[in-house]
Formats: sequence, C-alpha cells, structure tokens
Amino acid sequence: MSTHHVQRMSRLMAKTLREDPADAETLSHRLLVRAGYVRRSSAGVWTWLPLGKRVLDNVSRVVREEMDAIGAQEVLLPALLPKEPYEVSGRWSEYGDLLFRLRDRKGADYLLGPTHEEIFTLVVKDQCTSYKDLPVMLYQIQTKYRDEARPRSGVLRGREFQMKDSYSFDVCDEGLEESYRLHREAYVRIFERLGLDHRIVSAVSGAMGGSASEEFLAPAEAGEDTFADCPSCDYAANTEAVTFALTPVSAEHPPAEEVDTPDTPTIETLGAHLGVPASATLKNLLVKVDGEIVAVGVPGDREVDLGKLGEHLAPAVVELVTAEDFTDRPDLVRGYVGPQGLEKVRYLADPRVAPGTAWVTGANKADTHARNVVCGRDFEVDRYLDVVVVEPGDPCPSCGTGLRLDRAIEIGHIFQLGRKYADAFGLDVLGREGKPVRVTMGSYGIGVSRAVAALAEQTADERGLCWPAAVAPADVHVVAAGKAVPLALAEEAATALAGSGLGVLLDDRAGLSPGVKLTDAELIGVPWILVAGRRSADGVVELQNRATGTREELPLTEALGRLT
Ligand code: ATP
Ligand code: MG
Ligand code: MG
Ligand code: MG
Repeated sequence: MSTHHVQRMSRLMAKTLREDPADAETLSHRLLVRAGYVRRSSAGVWTWLPLGKRVLDNVSRVVREEMDAIGAQEVLLPALLPKEPYEVSGRWSEYGDLLFRLRDRKGADYLLGPTHEEIFTLVVKDQCTSYKDLPVMLYQIQTKYRDEARPRSGVLRGREFQMKDSYSFDVCDEGLEESYRLHREAYVRIFERLGLDHRIVSAVSGAMGGSASEEFLAPAEAGEDTFADCPSCDYAANTEAVTFALTPVSAEHPPAEEVDTPDTPTIETLGAHLGVPASATLKNLLVKVDGEIVAVGVPGDREVDLGKLGEHLAPAVVELVTAEDFTDRPDLVRGYVGPQGLEKVRYLADPRVAPGTAWVTGANKADTHARNVVCGRDFEVDRYLDVVVVEPGDPCPSCGTGLRLDRAIEIGHIFQLGRKYADAFGLDVLGREGKPVRVTMGSYGIGVSRAVAALAEQTADERGLCWPAAVAPADVHVVAAGKAVPLALAEEAATALAGSGLGVLLDDRAGLSPGVKLTDAELIGVPWILVAGRRSADGVVELQNRATGTREELPLTEALGRLT
C-alpha cells in the first residue's frame, strides 16, 4: 500500500450541510451534496471536492486495473473533436440536440465528445496496418459531454461526466466475441470489487443476434431504467428486450414479406419530404401530428420505411423528433428490431390506444422494404394493433415463471458493433492471405462518475453515506470527541493508522460538540469510526462499524490491531 497522510477535517475544503439541497430528487444527490463530496456548477455539471475526488479516483483505479488485466491499453483522446468524422458516421446530425457543438475562431465546427467510436477507429486506422497488429483493445477514462434533455439526480445523469470507454478491433467474428467476453468478465469483476450489486440484462439490439448488446444495471429506486427479472431462472432483460420476447405474432396480420424495392421511400426521403436536411441520418424516428405522437420508426442502424405514413400525413402538421424524445416518455412507446429483422413498434400505456392495435414494419436490409403494410388498413393516426405492456407477473420467456419488474441504474453497456464504423471509415488491415480484411469492432462503456452515485444509492442509510471499503474516501474516520486528552489520543491513533498504510480522516475541529462530529462522521460514511472520548485518559477508544452500527470500547492498541 502507498503511504497515506492524515486528512484533517479542520483543513478539509468541504462543508457538511444540515439541510438537503432544495432541488435534490434522489438519495445520492442529497447525500453527496450534504456530506461535501460534490457541488453543482451548472445544470448537470459538477465540481468534485476532495472527498468526492477520492471516491471517483478509487472507482477509476479499480476500472483501470481490470482493464489492464485483460490486456486493454490505456490512451487519452481529446474531448474537443472535429466535426468531420461524426459527419462520416452520420452522428453529427443523428445526435441532434444531445451534442455540445462549438466553433473555433476560423469558423470550423467542433463538438465535445459524447462517445468516441469514430475517433478510435481513426487512431487504429493510422496505427494498425496488418492482421499482426490485431486484436487490439484500447480504453480511456475521460470526460464526456452530452446535453441531456433532463440532467437530474446529481452526478447520476450529468451533462459532463466521467466514462471509461473501450473499443476492440479484431479481424474476425470469433475475435470480436472473445474481446466482448473479456470485457464482460472484466465488468463483472469491476462491479464485484466496487461492491455494486448489479444484473446483466440483454438490451434491445440483443434481438438482432444473441448477445450483441448487454447492459449492466444496478438495482436502485432512483434508477431510470426498468428491467424484468425472473425469480426462478437467470433470465433478465430490459423492458425493450422483454417486450420483444413476449410479443404475440398477430393472427390477422400476415408476416411482412421482404421485397427488393429500391424506389420505396427511405427514412431519408421521408425526412426530406418533411423538411429534415438531407444529411440527417435519423435513428429512432418519432412522428408527431399536432403535438400527438402518431408513429415511430426504430430502425436501429437500418432504414425504416415510413414513406406511406409520410404520404398519408400533410407535411405541414408533421414534426420529426429523435431518440431523446423517447427518454421523456418511456411510458408511451418502445420499439425494437424483431426476429426477422422487422422493425416493430409497440405503443405502451397510451391512453389513446385501444387494446389490439398496430405496428409498423420496415426495411431489414439496405434497399429492401417490407410489404403488406398498408396505411389505412394496418395503421392510421389513431388506430394501432398489438398493444402489449409488460407487467409484473408476465411469464418469463425462458421458463414461464412470473417476472418481477425492478428499477435500476445503467452503469455499463457493452456492444458488438461489427463493421459499421470500419465500413464508414474504410478500416482494413492486410490479412494473412495478403488481401485487405475489414476490421470488426466492439465498444464498451462504464459510467465512472455515475457508479459513485449508484454506490451511494445502494449503500446509504438514514444516517448518511456508507461506502464499501474499496471506494471509501478513507479507511478510518478518527474523531477527537473533546479537547486536550481526547485530541492527543486521536492524533496518536491517526498517526499510527496512517503509518501502517491506512487512509485516515481526522476530525480535529475545535469548538464542535462530540454529537455534531459523530453525526458528520456517519454522514460522510467512512467504513470505520474511531472515537477518542471520555475514556481517553485510560487509553480507551470506541470503535464503530459504520455499516453494521456495532460499537465497542477497547484500548487503542487493540483497536489499531483490529484495523491494520
Ligand atoms: P442512459 O440510458 O442512462 O442515458 P446511455 O445508454 O445513453 O445511458 P451509453 O451511451 O451506453 O449511455 O454510455 C455508457 C455508460 O455511460 C452508460 O452505461 C452510463 O453508465 C454512462 N452514462 C451515460 N450517460 C450518462 C450521463 N448523462 N451521466 C453519467 N453517466 C452517463
Ligand atoms: Mg443516454
Ligand atoms: Mg441507455
Ligand atoms: Mg447504454
């Protein structure tokens, strides 16, 4: 262990607050502010004070160690990025308002990186030329920027936040699967070491082929995600994926048939029809008429045919909005890609939707579109088919037991991207046979700053924060409950603990009652609290376990023996 110093509360640049911040909606938000870990700078933008920075660094350290252990190499890419690569991938327009955009003095467009697939692809294209250079896994722990529609819950959903993002590059599908597996296992170790209770759930794109995408969710009331969990088998899925699995195929609605109709309107031509710029690659399309949601296209990365809908609706009254609109109304609408690649849309809990309404099918391959979707017969502005809402007790798709629905925080997300970005940027390496081979990629994220809040949510109690040892800002919180003799004994304890390599927070503040200091210690949430109080003259201290609440009086030497 590295040498530790004693952090004195008398010098600590952080004040605890008695009152909850007025705008705080969640436990972690309230407690992290009150205990002096973070302070709000502007909406969704946070300053990390000394205690908070320690916890953040501890989370980063665990993440870094486990990423290094699977052979991933740490790099640091810029957060300030040029527009062009994001135009090549289509995300400059696809991201819409989520991107922070800015311009330099010469008028060139830039963005603050929300995630870095494009830039990593370019780095590898520059550095790797042969199959011998692959596989490679790269990661960074870096500040990300997303202009979230509703930054809330403190650091749980920031507009500036810390993410560990990594990217794998392989020459073959088996290689990608191996890189994905290594990440998945590393994530399990990371969250176990951090003490974060978590579930791995298949995510929407899982419907496109096994484990193409999985989310790591930390169950917590404050979470913005709902997931279904089977009490008898290991089935767990987010609601999009479970909705998909439970979809009955409607008897009256014949399965759509694929035909090659290159002239069928694409999402772009529909967009053009409705006044969206030609450069826009729309993903997750929501169509509103007079402010009401009337249709949704969820093509994943593919095209969707909403041309008929476009023709049906007068352009003047149609408004197109993108993915972020879903996040505001998760109760209303869910979409996903079905087993035959059909895009389906489910309207949830929409008061206007009568039971037994519709879906929209679309293209599943470039330039092909589904037939048998006839506006007026299959869907209209106010008529839908097949409405299913996943509810607690619905049958588990794998064993039939009644499902549970729980709230959770998304703390990690792993994807098999395939060749999407390699295609966009022409990322090839020279293969074994001397011919160019297109590279296949994965991308993997962990919300490092969000993990701090998720841990706070899961571990805090009515007295305050309560950190697992791996991330706590100190190992022991020594409280001088009195001047003179207690203070001297507390100083002695702190020096001895720090000397044996423990992180020590020493409450040496003058003029505060023992009660106030103990309340603060509980609020701050260091795993052990050592109090030098009434019996200091006999060398006796009280040792409290913050999590269990157990307390015991014992000679200081014995207490030191327990802790070191
Ligand atoms: P969410 O569904 O919560 O908006 P996301 O799916 O948009 O998250 P990803 O693009 O998968 O996020 O990013 C990887 C990880 O980064 C997420 O799993 C999450 O832990 C973290 N993250 C994403 N957005 C934020 C944010 N605004 N604030 C803090 N952490 C975030
Ligand atoms: Mg998001
Ligand atoms: Mg998400
Ligand atoms: Mg995600």
